[in-house]
Amino acid sequence: MNGSRLDHLLLDLDGTLLDAHFDDYFWEECLPDIVARRDGITPAAARGRLLALYNETRFSLRWADVDYWSQRLGVDIVALKRRQSHLIRLHPGAGEFLRRAQESGWRLHLVTDAHPKTLTIKFEKVDIRGFFDTIICAEDVGAAKTEPGFWRSLPAMGYNLDHCLLVDDNLAALRQAFKAGVAACIQITRPNSRRENKVKAEFFAVASVADLPPSPSLFPLQEHP
Ligand SMILES: [Mg+2]
Repeated sequence: MNGSRLDHLLLDLDGTLLDAHFDDYFWEECLPDIVARRDGITPAAARGRLLALYNETRFSLRWADVDYWSQRLGVDIVALKRRQSHLIRLHPGAGEFLRRAQESGWRLHLVTDAHPKTLTIKFEKVDIRGFFDTIICAEDVGAAKTEPGFWRSLPAMGYNLDHCLLVDDNLAALRQAFKAGVAACIQITRPNSRRENKVKAEFFAVASVADLPPSPSLFPLQEHP
């Protein structure tokens, strides 16, 4: 219950610190509209086709691999993301949360599946790199957060999982992290500030990081038995 030994805060990027509105809009509306116009089909048909393709890759590095999607779809994904980058924003309250967490003595680490080319675009808009001791990118690790390999790699990189608290909106990633020994997990249930809560909570859950207390000892945590 008490998280006093926890001093490393692992934070997801998209949907946790950044508002998922950008990604949801990009993949579910912007890209389908472009494919629809190009292929002469309805936006709904294009969306259905793309969602089926996304689902094939959802639990692997390919899901976030912009080069893979550029090739697969014949659309320059990086250029298109850059054109839409005005929509990249912090989740409401996330900036204040980062400042409070840092002041409370947490060591902050970004853990993200976002592709390095996507990270470049996002940090151009919202540069929060200064808050983090390290930025752990799935592409560099060689496994997505939804795969056991990602979390198994962390101890070899010097992380004591027993001291780590993960905050993420991806339930599959939280499950893998907890199974691998990350001491405690918190689930974000409203990654897109313009939509209702996404999924039923399985871990201790808050709508957004703005709802979290700053101090480790104040977290009501679900820990390993
Ligand atoms: Mg996320």
